Amino acid sequence: MTAMEPIPLVRASLGQQELAAVAEVFASGWPAGQGPRGKALEAQLVKRYGAGDAVAMCNAGAALHVSLLALGVKPGDEVIVADYGFPAPAHAVRYLDAVPVCADVRADTGTVDPQAVADLITARTVGIIAVDTVGIPADYVELQAIADRHGLFVVEDAACAVGATYQGREAGSLAEVGVLSFHGRKGATSGEGGALLAADPKIGADARLRSSFGIGSIFDMGKVVGLPIPEFTRIGHNYKLSDIAAAILQVQLERIDELLARRDAVAVQYSELLADEELLTVPYVPDDRTHAWQTYMVKLDPRVDRAAVATELRAQGIGCGHGTFATHIQPVFESKHTCPVSAELVQRHLAIPMHAELDADQVERVVDALRTAVRTHAAPTPSPGGAA
Ligand SMILES: *Cc1c(COP(=O)(O)O)cnc(C)c1O
Repeated sequence: MTAMEPIPLVRASLGQQELAAVAEVFASGWPAGQGPRGKALEAQLVKRYGAGDAVAMCNAGAALHVSLLALGVKPGDEVIVADYGFPAPAHAVRYLDAVPVCADVRADTGTVDPQAVADLITARTVGIIAVDTVGIPADYVELQAIADRHGLFVVEDAACAVGATYQGREAGSLAEVGVLSFHGRKGATSGEGGALLAADPKIGADARLRSSFGIGSIFDMGKVVGLPIPEFTRIGHNYKLSDIAAAILQVQLERIDELLARRDAVAVQYSELLADEELLTVPYVPDDRTHAWQTYMVKLDPRVDRAAVATELRAQGIGCGHGTFATHIQPVFESKHTCPVSAELVQRHLAIPMHAELDADQVERVVDALRTAVRTHAAPTPSPGGAA
């Protein structure tokens, strides 16, 4: 057998166009944040999302932190967070000495279960952070109705979901505040990067100040006549995105349809080829939404030894992973209650290669290897309760 090319789990699609954009920034002499490129990126985001304002930031974790500050979260407040996903929302709540309350998720989509959210509301609850889990939007109509009934805010963590849609609307614009990530493992990237989208321009303006030491753009100050001393009006963080990263993102956002079409084709091929495999379930996407496919996760039958499957795939050079996280079982977020669905998904999901540069032959190779591995590593009899 000939040695096979490795097939990585993830791969960023960055090329000559992005390099050319970086070269322009170098030539301009302004590589720092909130310069011409950052402003142009923010304008591009406002237009794409129909947002009241968009603030470019260094990552989505920072954008979540600033969104909670701008929404007025206080120490001791409870914020309900979707349990299943990268636990950045729970971290953000803790930055403010507030209490993250983990809500369980839907078994079919992995997104937060609106009924679980409703059941967790107390007199101290101030808001909800929903997650578009690995790229699939949550149930915003139901979540917003619950929020409106109780006077809560909703933040959409769309870190993985650039390009996804829900009832024809763009993920990232499905709540009063939305957060995007441009980390290297997401569908559009500048290595590290993020953005906050706000329906209300006042929230956007406040977030911009809080993400730049509580003061306006240094680039703009260079143009002010009369040299007034600028004023710090907030205690702020330094969460700015460099103009180098902003230039890369301007290109990536123009390419998002092309990149997403490729991911979509990979997902369709996986789901078709694996549909008949009894030892796993392919992702479910409800008719009213589209997936950004930050990750493609299959759910393994309880009979399958996931660790053995992963070892076997990796031995063949095929990248794989556990998928994402169940927040409430992480030691730092000791939880009063359990989220059984999320706890089960985190044991049974397996992420397989997903990026915009996979070709059809590679997808077939992954499918063949996965099929063989799950059949080799399945216990002969169903465990009590059987297959889901
Ligand atoms: C990746 C991710 C984040 C963090 O994004 P950064 O830009 O790396 O800070 C936040 N939330 C979710 C759901 C994510 O998947």
